[in-house]
Amino acid sequence: MSFSASVLTLYPEMFPGALGLSLAGRALETGIWSLKAIQIRDFASDRHRTVDDTPAGGGAGMVMRADVLASAIDHASPPGDLRPKLLMSPRGKPLTQRRVRELAGGPGAVIVCGRFEGVDQRVIESRGLEEVSIGDFILSGGEPAALVLLDAVVRLLPGVMGNAVSGDEESFENGLLEHPHYTRPQEFEGRPIPEVLISGNHKKIAAWRRAEAEKLTKERRPDLLAAQPLSK
Ligand code: SAH
Repeated sequence: MSFSASVLTLYPEMFPGALGLSLAGRALETGIWSLKAIQIRDFASDRHRTVDDTPAGGGAGMVMRADVLASAIDHASPPGDLRPKLLMSPRGKPLTQRRVRELAGGPGAVIVCGRFEGVDQRVIESRGLEEVSIGDFILSGGEPAALVLLDAVVRLLPGVMGNAVSGDEESFENGLLEHPHYTRPQEFEGRPIPEVLISGNHKKIAAWRRAEAEKLTKERRPDLLAAQPLSK
């Protein structure tokens, strides 16, 4: 059973986009995951295929209509579909590696991409949409956010990453940012690779990496450390 993503969007041409290339693209071709981009506009009922309207109470911009979006969601996710229904939204819970991992372990996701000022609150409530943010900034639409979320999920699916171990040592997987990396040449513009990394002593290397990771996390993301105790 492969991971199945359905994306509801006014711009289905944006998919698979970057996810058609590299690891995710190969996994899409080999059926490790599947992607359906659904045009929300196809569910509009009027002659002009209207999907948005002016905000109740006035103000700038347009709002995506609840009825049109609900029809699109019901089509994408009929009764019995166990996939979580997500709405990409700057007001959502910030996406974490933990949530990414949970999604990767599930049957897939139905992802709604907002446009304009956002979507009518009533469809969020009636269809039980989980609002997910990819950060404290405003995009012009949910599509790049959906691509970001799917990229993070797909690389965790079994068989996608060539070197399976590299998954668990990554930033955030253990509550720390990752240690710095080095490769050849041995010396670059007068900067050598740290001695310990060429010592061949794996215990020492592991300890050095751990210490570097803790130092970096303390400097850059003390909030991550607050959430998890350091090693003794
Ligand atoms: N008026 C809204 C922003 C609308 S941006 C507000 O102030 O909250 C238009 C659409 O882009 C949103 O509906 C959402 O789907 C998407 N979007 C924008 N920023 C996002 C973010 N940080 N994370 C996830 N989706 C985002």
